[in-house]
Amino acid sequence: MPHIKHLLSLACITLASISTFANADTVTVYSARNEQLLKPILDRYSKETGTEIKLLTANEGALLARLNAEGATTPADVLITVDAGNLWLAAQQGQLRALTSSVLQKNIPAHLRDPDNQWFGLSVRARTIVYSKSAVRASELSSYDDLAQPRWKGRLCLRTSKKVYNQSLIAMMITELGETKTEEIVRGWVTNLATTPFPDDTSLLKAIAAGQCQVGIVNTYYLGRILVKEPDFPVALFWANQSGSGTHVNVSGAGITKHAKNPAGAQKLIEYLSMETAQSFYVDEDLEFPANPKVKPNSIVKDWGSFKPNLLNVSKAGELQAAATRLMDRAGYK
Ligand code: FE
Repeated sequence: MPHIKHLLSLACITLASISTFANADTVTVYSARNEQLLKPILDRYSKETGTEIKLLTANEGALLARLNAEGATTPADVLITVDAGNLWLAAQQGQLRALTSSVLQKNIPAHLRDPDNQWFGLSVRARTIVYSKSAVRASELSSYDDLAQPRWKGRLCLRTSKKVYNQSLIAMMITELGETKTEEIVRGWVTNLATTPFPDDTSLLKAIAAGQCQVGIVNTYYLGRILVKEPDFPVALFWANQSGSGTHVNVSGAGITKHAKNPAGAQKLIEYLSMETAQSFYVDEDLEFPANPKVKPNSIVKDWGSFKPNLLNVSKAGELQAAATRLMDRAGYK
């Protein structure tokens, strides 16, 4: 009997090494995206290619800290996260490597990717003005800076300045208007606040619906998610800065980690995420805008009409993040 047992365990070892060999194409992904959104896309990729994907989901700060702590021993091949500010920070901290890919150059417009090719936007999120349908007419609205005007006093809601989305928006404004003008605007916003800033965009939208305030600034997919469940939700969307440089857009995106063990597999996966099948997951599951211009937005999103996005490279959001944070601090934006 011991002899047979020995043979069996030998067989197991052999099987194990064969299956390890068969799974040599394993890609490990560190992701800050909602697992419900990303998992179906990754499962589909595995099914189509036979590549095994190991997925670790955590918030963006925790993932960066982990990459830093693991250094060269990290199992991560791909980093997927939201906001150009975070992608920029990962590149800045030396966590990513440049990737030359004709597929990505073709599928992702230049302003949605890192000029040094260390990360690529995969979905677009627009941060724009929302308003109470009963209290405000669209014709009263125009731009982010207009919300600093005295006529909005006691009518504005904002999300906390701690959120990278707002840091990126302010960074874009600094690039266009300079620090002095931007600070003046942010001070005006703070003066106009109806209540203390909200921890998230969804509570802000609900505050407008409840009449606590009448205008605010949010990422559009948060309104989309509510509209899926409540088509009569009394808050509408307004495309900001259309007669100027366009509505602020940001990305969720991905890059290959500096210490990737399977950079070729990582590249193939990121390329797949830029193609039509994967792009439609971002569009239909999360109501974001496709980064690949060949893909059409979801019907709820289409109802908002087309808009002129700000074409400033989203990497500016990262470069000016610290300046934006300091500016909001000085202006008393909590
Ligand atoms: Fe979000």
